[in-house]
Amino acid sequence: MSQEVSLLELREAVQLYEQEEEHLNLSYTWYLAEASRFGRIYFARIPVPTHKRNNTWYVDHDKFMEAIEHHRKSLENRREVAESFSRGIVNGQTGQTVEGDELIYKVLGDFCLVRTEEDWWIGNTFGNWYCNKCQTPAKTEHEKEECQFCKYGKGCGGDCTLSQLYCPNCGNTLDL
Ligand SMILES: [Zn+2]
Ligand SMILES: [Zn+2]
Repeated sequence: MSQEVSLLELREAVQLYEQEEEHLNLSYTWYLAEASRFGRIYFARIPVPTHKRNNTWYVDHDKFMEAIEHHRKSLENRREVAESFSRGIVNGQTGQTVEGDELIYKVLGDFCLVRTEEDWWIGNTFGNWYCNKCQTPAKTEHEKEECQFCKYGKGCGGDCTLSQLYCPNCGNTLDL
């Protein structure tokens, strides 16, 4: 028994994808080039196999639908994260990075390092620390010794000298 994959014309797939919210705007030429070069196209970070039949490009229908589903779910999830965060709810365990709509944060104990879209624009690529208990900007102490990369190289790109986080509002403290 041969298992034929069900196919969807690439042109149609691109049209469907472009009806989705927050899709990427790429030229049709780009899609064609991807298809012929790699035999797959990434939709919403999901690789969807492509097939050529009689000079027409197709995508794997099921995989494509899976990608659309993934696109919708991750958009919904990112909006939920941003919405809860604005209400003071921090999701995620310590060490975890949580991606929301126009914001990303990393959890560390009862604090989180927040970077918003606005931070990117103003060049604050590092972000700001907040207390998770009362959403107040946290104070930081930097008394640790620099790491090897910072001492002898180009730097670790992190905040290796960070020794303490402290909330001036509720007294929440984390020693590192
Ligand atoms: Zn360092
Ligand atoms: Zn606090």
